[in-house]
Amino acid sequence: MKLQAVRGFKDWLPEDFVKYEYLIEKARLWCKLFNFKEIKIPILEKTELFVRSIGEVTDIVQKETYSFEDRNKDWLTLRPEATAGICRMVIEHGLYVRPKPLKFFTIGPMFRHERPQKGRLREFFQIDLEVFSELNPYLEAEVIFLALKILKSPLPEESDQLYTLELNTLGCPECRPKYREALLSFLREHKDEVCETCKERIERNPLRVLDCKNEGCKKVVSGSPLITDFLCEDCKTHFQELKEALQSLDIEFSLNPRLVRGLDYYVRTIFEIKAKGLGAQDTVCAGGRYDYLVKELGGPELPAIGFAIGLERWAISLFGDEENKGLLDPNTLTEKLCPDLYLVFLGKPLIKQGVILSQKLREKGLRCETTYEEKSLKAQLKNADKLGANFVLILGEKEWAEKRAVFRDLKKSAQKEIGFDGLDDLVAKVVKEVKG
Ligand code: ATP
Ligand code: MG
Repeated sequence: MKLQAVRGFKDWLPEDFVKYEYLIEKARLWCKLFNFKEIKIPILEKTELFVRSIGEVTDIVQKETYSFEDRNKDWLTLRPEATAGICRMVIEHGLYVRPKPLKFFTIGPMFRHERPQKGRLREFFQIDLEVFSELNPYLEAEVIFLALKILKSPLPEESDQLYTLELNTLGCPECRPKYREALLSFLREHKDEVCETCKERIERNPLRVLDCKNEGCKKVVSGSPLITDFLCEDCKTHFQELKEALQSLDIEFSLNPRLVRGLDYYVRTIFEIKAKGLGAQDTVCAGGRYDYLVKELGGPELPAIGFAIGLERWAISLFGDEENKGLLDPNTLTEKLCPDLYLVFLGKPLIKQGVILSQKLREKGLRCETTYEEKSLKAQLKNADKLGANFVLILGEKEWAEKRAVFRDLKKSAQKEIGFDGLDDLVAKVVKEVKG
């Protein structure tokens, strides 16, 4: 049988890697400007961490995790998200005593056993940011501002309309239970009209029904009670202040009172950023507050807010895919995979000079490619062209003896001779030609 990668797990070929690397660098830059510190947490955690944080009855923990018993009979889970792990890190290392705000970000793979489709993988990458600090709507506005800044950072300013922000509040332990009750009795009345998955969800996680992508469920839910009618005074004020803070930062948003998140720990403000042209999986970034999670996991009371950007969806929203062209042209990045210079040396006696010369060119910052196999000039030029090299440097035995080399510009189909006095002189002259 032909060997293949596991379903939903993807290889990053060089042409994929350059895109992701480009986006990650953009994101890193903004994270650092906002004084977020990069961290790394393990890919594997004890299953208990996710059961206690994400919630035992959520879709993620019930159906979507890769969990297994290891050789010591410990239950372990490949992380489906990063927030729980970061909270564990904060508690385990006592980071909560450090000066606030604590701001962390991490970039890496997450694992969920979902049905693979466009924009939905089983291994996917997230850029995840978390702030542990006071419960303040201005801080929230700033975090949302940053999410949008990161997403838009690769775009020219005039193409500003790609992403849209949706906002909601889930209330707090004071007001949410009342809403949950109202929603529950509404959904029980409509039990026969929702999909099979939602029939199960009603009792264990009714809010999640609001998030179902099934058309029938969407129809039912369009008549459901709204959280906004159940908010306590504190939550109302908080949400109002957030809206004002967003307005002062010129951030456009739409209110979606049926927006929920798939994880149990969210309270108060939640948000999603959607991208045009992504089809059903159009949320590129999602986040919200989780003010009680650190305490629930055994730490002190520490309000927090965070979000995660799905790297692959973000990339599709910008570069497009097989079906759609994006606003950015990936070829401008793949060009960077081509060598600056291809070195051709002809004849065995020159091989030693060739090996020294190619290292020296690289040490001077040229992306140099060559071959140590004996091949004809014609074959080598063809290869240089296929590799996408911009320039070729040709050394023949006769030329070498006469201290001259042929320098060819493949893109312009022009060539000239370079006279030189020793290898270092040749390197200096070639670097000058290539870098201009
Ligand atoms: P969705 O509703 O699309 O399943 P979610 O609510 O499960 O998303 P989060 O857990 O909040 O998503 O993750 C944040 C972001 O991570 C999503 O907005 C998305 O961009 C990305 N993401 C989540 N699950 C996947 C997946 N299976 N494949 C690719 N990206 C994903
Ligand atoms: Mg999901």
